[in-house]
Amino acid sequence: MSTNIIALLPEHVANQIAAGEVVQRPASVVKELLENAIDAGATHIKLIIKDAGKTLIQVIDNGKGMSPFDARMCFERHATSKINKTDDLFSLTTKGFRGEALASIAAVAQIELKTKQEADIVGQQIVIEGGKFLSQSECQTPTGTSFTVKNLFFNITARRSFLKNDQIEQKHIIDDFERVALPHCDIHFTFISNGNEILNLPAGNLMQRIKLLYGNYMQKDLVTIGEDTPFLKIGGYVSLPSAAVKTKKDQFIFINNRFIRNAFLNHAVYSAYKDLISFQSHPKYFLFLELDPKYIDINIHPTKTEVKFTDEKTIYMLLLSVVKRALGKANAAPSIDFETEMSMNNTLPSSEKFFSQPKVSHNPDYNPFKNAGSFTSGESGLQKINKQNWENLFDGFKQTNLPETITTEPEQQTIESVKREAIDFSVFQLHLKYIVTTYNNSVFIIDQQRAHERIVYEHYLNTKVESKIASQQLLFPEQLELSFNDFGLIQNLKEEFKLLGFDIEEFGKNSIVVNGTPSDLQDFNVATTIEGILETFKLNTIDAKIEKHDNLCRAIAKNICIKYGKFLEEQEMKLMVNHLLQCENPLYTANGRPVIMEVELNEIERFFKK
Ligand code: ADP
Ligand code: MG
Repeated sequence: MSTNIIALLPEHVANQIAAGEVVQRPASVVKELLENAIDAGATHIKLIIKDAGKTLIQVIDNGKGMSPFDARMCFERHATSKINKTDDLFSLTTKGFRGEALASIAAVAQIELKTKQEADIVGQQIVIEGGKFLSQSECQTPTGTSFTVKNLFFNITARRSFLKNDQIEQKHIIDDFERVALPHCDIHFTFISNGNEILNLPAGNLMQRIKLLYGNYMQKDLVTIGEDTPFLKIGGYVSLPSAAVKTKKDQFIFINNRFIRNAFLNHAVYSAYKDLISFQSHPKYFLFLELDPKYIDINIHPTKTEVKFTDEKTIYMLLLSVVKRALGKANAAPSIDFETEMSMNNTLPSSEKFFSQPKVSHNPDYNPFKNAGSFTSGESGLQKINKQNWENLFDGFKQTNLPETITTEPEQQTIESVKREAIDFSVFQLHLKYIVTTYNNSVFIIDQQRAHERIVYEHYLNTKVESKIASQQLLFPEQLELSFNDFGLIQNLKEEFKLLGFDIEEFGKNSIVVNGTPSDLQDFNVATTIEGILETFKLNTIDAKIEKHDNLCRAIAKNICIKYGKFLEEQEMKLMVNHLLQCENPLYTANGRPVIMEVELNEIERFFKK
């Protein structure tokens, strides 16, 4: 006799399986709930999380709310108000459409939904746990919807234990939050984590939103792009070549306000920067493409960040040319440019050329901040070293000719003349904070702390295994008690620290001994500096995806650089300016803060015409 063994999966099992696809981590829940709120027409959306969303995720919106029937219905799989026939798939204007997010989330968490439509007097409250419907009742609640998701994966221990630590999970949430909030700048977003408001983004324009999310300095780095064809609209911002950074970050492409990943389109953008930025550096971009949904197939990935187009090549070419044109225009505008006369017939932005070339002839044995790190030592022998180094720096080009011959041999002469020019400037210190100097009809005001931070950062960043920073043994090794977290971090960064000249040993539970420090650093408090470095490192991991070595270099630079309030000798200032100019990117600190301000002669003249 034959036996039947095939049975349909019980609904809650099917939902749990589907949940595996839709809900990978707390951030996935956040994304789905935020998108639902947008689809519901909300103008204010509040996100509240606890413990990186592991214990609580709540999204409150003032959108159109749900009827009592819909409130119950929305948790059914394939329940959606957004499409009802296949054709609708090709004209989608909403974020969701599969109708499986809420069913999936409800299958793996404890949910409370409160919702009310404008016309109703009372709202509905629904409680569901692990896909089991527990109750529906009337409640007082404002128009809109509040979704509370507690204890994600409470019923799937294995999934819960796969979650990363809070810092990482929160970072995912921030990423997803940003991707949703950026294109919807007409919606007010609030983000509260463990009781602290970490973001408050009032409705505004795109630039205001970018500045709130990524810092005010961003505006200076960005140029507007725009193109309007019947097939495709492109808008947004791309960064100036001079603002290129070592790490890939702040790169966004949105299609019809949905964040997408598409290697092909990224390639188009990078192609526009070809020859403008060095091969290891990266532009920032915020690109908004709009095209008729019928040309897009977003249905290939459950979380829908991968996208396919029917006419990829055309989009590629359009994007490339739009970005190129924007950069070309921006290039014509004045920027810091120390060698205008020499670079007239050069297609590169001249600042790029200027800032990368002097490296060619710089003395590799010379250490820029051996002395700088020890400015505190006042009258000791250090001043003498300073002077020597300062002289070393300019050895070999003291007799360089004046720039009459430049046009004949541009390549070589440019380097020499720039360096020669670099000796001639006069400097003074303003307010124990800025170095002021003039060059080529401009006044340059240099932030001493940021300048030194940039110099130290690049010096450490370029350290390789073959050329590690020498460590100098401390006469009295220092023992440090650390928090459990910091101790873990130090263990994790042990090799990196070693490369940079820190000789650190574990010493029992949560404590370390520092035996040696980089020999090019002097006179600093070991304990506070290491603590500061760890703090900065942690902050950076929350703010941005920065690679370990890079992050540590940033943290070191930030913590050991010369601070404001430090008196600088004339030679020290000259040394600093020269070293700054030899940096690959002297214009900004690693975290993108401006280092140099330029006041052009014509601005000065304009002022006095009044
Ligand atoms: P989808 O968004 O793909 O339609 P979901 O499972 O995310 O599927 O949501 C199911 C349905 O529940 C939506 O189509 C919508 O009608 C309703 N809904 C979900 N969230 C909200 C909300 N915040 N406000 C109003 N309606 C909502
Ligand atoms: Mg949805």
